[in-house]
Amino acid sequence: MPFGYHGCYLRIDVSKGTSEYAPLSDTVLRQYLGGSGLGVKLLLDEGAAVMDPLAPEAPLVFAFSPLVGSPLTTSAKFAVVSKSPLTGRINDSLASSGFAIAGKRCGCDAIVIVGRAAELSVVVIDETGVRMEPAIEYRGATCRETESGLKARLGANYRVASIGPAGEHLVRYATISHDGRHAGRGGSGAVLGSKNVKAIALRGTKRAEWANPEELTTISKSLSKRSFGPATAKYRELGTATNLLTFNRFGALPTRNFQSGTFEEAASLSPEQLSTTRSKTRESCVSCTIGCEHIYSLGTGRGVRVEYESLFALGSLCGVSDADAVLRASQRCDELGLDTISTGGTIAFAMECVERGWLNEPWLTFGSADALLRVIDLIGSRQGIGDLLADGSRRAAEAIGHHSIDFAPQVKGLEIPGYEPRALQTMALGFAVGARGADHNRSGAYEVDFSDKVDRRHVTLDAVRHAIDTEDKAALMDSMIICKFLRGVFEDFQAEAAEMLRSVTGWDVSADELRETAKRIVSSKRQFNLLAGWTPAEDTLPERFLSTPLPNDPEASLSRERLDSLVAEYHRQRGW
Ligand code: SF4
Repeated sequence: MPFGYHGCYLRIDVSKGTSEYAPLSDTVLRQYLGGSGLGVKLLLDEGAAVMDPLAPEAPLVFAFSPLVGSPLTTSAKFAVVSKSPLTGRINDSLASSGFAIAGKRCGCDAIVIVGRAAELSVVVIDETGVRMEPAIEYRGATCRETESGLKARLGANYRVASIGPAGEHLVRYATISHDGRHAGRGGSGAVLGSKNVKAIALRGTKRAEWANPEELTTISKSLSKRSFGPATAKYRELGTATNLLTFNRFGALPTRNFQSGTFEEAASLSPEQLSTTRSKTRESCVSCTIGCEHIYSLGTGRGVRVEYESLFALGSLCGVSDADAVLRASQRCDELGLDTISTGGTIAFAMECVERGWLNEPWLTFGSADALLRVIDLIGSRQGIGDLLADGSRRAAEAIGHHSIDFAPQVKGLEIPGYEPRALQTMALGFAVGARGADHNRSGAYEVDFSDKVDRRHVTLDAVRHAIDTEDKAALMDSMIICKFLRGVFEDFQAEAAEMLRSVTGWDVSADELRETAKRIVSSKRQFNLLAGWTPAEDTLPERFLSTPLPNDPEASLSRERLDSLVAEYHRQRGW
């Protein structure tokens, strides 16, 4: 067994209440590393691609990484990997903090959960073993209520990941949350909910050893020092929301269900404006020296963590400029356990259907703060129109008809993040080919659009290799796992990643080997999707983006022909 690992995963069957440790070979660990990579490998071995993601037998994987528990900044992260109930394709979402460290201290590199408990339960893993306890009293509780209740019951040193009411109601974009952070995209919360598992509570004492602790300390100090530098300044100063006004200037801020790329009231949602009237504190994940989390006060109670993606999805995309309402909507999504991007995207789609007279919910209009808050609660409880919208914009479009699928803002069923594809065309390619659907975390192609490598509104085939590079880099970062907000501090990420892995594992690993590892992980996701029924027609964007230029920027026009040629070149360069 290499250093940095335990060499096994814990497989728990919640139907039977049984568990076992299963070995992980050195070869598998070296080929898939951890996090997303190891999660996909375990899913393939379990045969998950052909299963109904909400069936008892469908596995849900919590995958840790060799770096978890090390002094490397931002390394306290875990991946949640399953077949997505929203897309029917691979889904890997990442979250942070003490749950990752506690999980690895349970003496395993991943936890696989299968089965369906007879009643709502919590899975407890500690030094006495694995057990199931009833969680009936937490039915309908928010993630924070569940977490604090279980800590009071079990002990403050347990770390808890849980679902909110949305996960219990099998909302197809429900999250799994821990300490205010979310494995957000693709509906892993619904998968856990389908198993009748409200939460997993962990406490462990087993530490993995490092191959070269002195070298690891030196690398960690250097990385921490650089994490205080200019490459991460924007995350410390204003957080991810810092991009909002820039995107609006570029015509890339999706507005009213992607009918426009500029929002005339964007300033009211900008962090510059938000911080003039509200107090704000900064927080960070465990083991992080950057601290990108900006928590805004809402007057009473806990504040709300403000992210660009939540501001765009619940703000400009729904045409809502009332900043208080948008912050409350974001907080409500956190409480219910809803992915803010898919929530906002599905609501904005419904608002456009109402505008066209195809959905008889006249109160659900663009710009209405009251409607936004009301419909979020309906989605979280699957009541009224919320039952349809809880299935996401693609399924809602199929039910509504009228070719509304042409403007349902999704790829493979996953709602599109806050990057207007017509204005950012390398990102358009990244969205189209994304294994888990429209995704800005598994492809960093927007970085290419904002560089001098391409003309973002007229990209050519030259953009393809850059898009592939960002996807490969993301696969490596998500498998090692290290926070993407560090990416700007590396001159040669693969070379530094090899150094980190050498000091942790003792492997004589090189940058070239890691480039191959990244490609293997991307290919494994594709293999999963092929087994799940992927067809080439899925690698595209909704018709709106391919037939309608942005109204305020006619140059931001993307034809089907151009997107198809980019996708074909992508497949060619991937060797698929
Ligand atoms: S930069 Fe932000 S998301 Fe990344 S580890 Fe630090 S606090 Fe967490």
